[in-house]
Amino acid sequence: MAEAVFQRCIHPHCGASVAVEETSFACPKCGGLLDVAYDWNRLQPPKSLAYFESKWAERLQPLSFSGVWRFRELLPFAPPEKIMTIGEGQTILQRADVVAKFAGMNAGCLHLQYEGMNPSGSFKDNGMTAAFTHASMVGATRAACASTGNTSASLAVFCSATGLMRAVIFIGSGKIAYGKLAQSLDHGALTVQIAGDFDDAMLRVQQISKKLGIYLVNSVNPFRLEGQKTIMYRILEAMRWEVPDWIVVPGGNLGNVSSFGKAFIELMELGLIKRPPRLAVINAAGSNTFYQLYERFGLRWNNGQPDARIIDGYYQSLDAEKIRAATIASAIEINHPVNLHKALRALDRCGGAVREVTDQEILDAKAKVGAGGLGCEPASAASVAGAKKLRKEGVIAPSDRVVCILTGHQLKDPTATVAYHSADRKTFDEVLGHRGVRRATYANRAVQVPNDLDEIIKAIEVYT
Ligand SMILES: *Cc1c(COP(=O)(O)O)cnc(C)c1O
Ligand SMILES: [Zn+2]
Repeated sequence: MAEAVFQRCIHPHCGASVAVEETSFACPKCGGLLDVAYDWNRLQPPKSLAYFESKWAERLQPLSFSGVWRFRELLPFAPPEKIMTIGEGQTILQRADVVAKFAGMNAGCLHLQYEGMNPSGSFKDNGMTAAFTHASMVGATRAACASTGNTSASLAVFCSATGLMRAVIFIGSGKIAYGKLAQSLDHGALTVQIAGDFDDAMLRVQQISKKLGIYLVNSVNPFRLEGQKTIMYRILEAMRWEVPDWIVVPGGNLGNVSSFGKAFIELMELGLIKRPPRLAVINAAGSNTFYQLYERFGLRWNNGQPDARIIDGYYQSLDAEKIRAATIASAIEINHPVNLHKALRALDRCGGAVREVTDQEILDAKAKVGAGGLGCEPASAASVAGAKKLRKEGVIAPSDRVVCILTGHQLKDPTATVAYHSADRKTFDEVLGHRGVRRATYANRAVQVPNDLDEIIKAIEVYT
């Protein structure tokens, strides 16, 4: 194809390409996933990463203010006038010594990338601005997604803030945290709750968007992953363009790890970094497909031809045993990750590991993240619990420089947090008992006192 920007099948033995305007998001030849691909010789990539520091002086321009689009030379698929930004990506990399100690790391060696600061409260906005930009390029008027809550919240925010499109949101029944549901309702999205779980909703939205010609913003959409690459650019920037040793990220649909891998593969192709960090993907033990396939069954990228028998066999065994994804970390409660192949490629190129952590480990890690100053939702804390596990195994060294991605804000799912800290065993058991969570190791309980001045004073003196 003669274009400088196009979409290309990720499987090298297929390599089919389609135009940048195409919206079916599947390879026409083999049905595989697509990448947004660039002929860098015909574009103007920067000669060094430090080039991006010049964008800080241009912050009055919306495209340079955006934490996504100030790196636009590394995702140059859209003409600037088509870019839809709402100021996403103003996020921080914070040194977290309380969490480092908890994970068994040296002080100064563990950082948290806090993506909860995005307009809709999760990292999804990084990808949504890019998908929205593509949608505006192709003139879409409706956009849909299936979601465990954050993609839909992000879509709802982008639709209401830009007025460009109508949002159609598919959620599973009873599987959405209230903070997230509140967002899609408050921002005016058409919210369709189907009887089924996330994997069911995902299948339906793909059928329906095809049938009705609605623009699909799920993470099979390769343009979303272009936006998510910038999380890595911001981390590099905050580390003064030094590459950390590890990036640790929770794994759900595996869009994030796939986009991180693509970011580093491209930075190496462009000669902008010498080596990539290793990538650690952390599953919840109750939805651990990637862990099982990668670590137990040895599934690998294998030059774009992962062993389909391993994958099919695994899914058949899930079906046969009627196993459904089940974890308190609802954002990663996914057993059929759509970006599986891209994630395998990311680990192949960058190196890394996949681990699973229990809901107990997730909530304990979450409490430590909170005690250290940042608030995250349960799924996000899987990254910290996973880093602790890899440190304990000796895979991560205490002096490695590790960045854990905090994918979503604490207030997305207050139910889990309040139950964990609750002094009332019934509240605790109701929310967490069936999750196999037995103790609130780091609970900060509310103190019950009579409405009496002396008693209140006594309590404060005892507890402070
Ligand atoms: C979507 C989401 C994830 C999972 O990310 P994937 O890219 O699907 O692997 C993790 N945490 C939070 C808070 C999310 O919203
Ligand atoms: Zn193909």
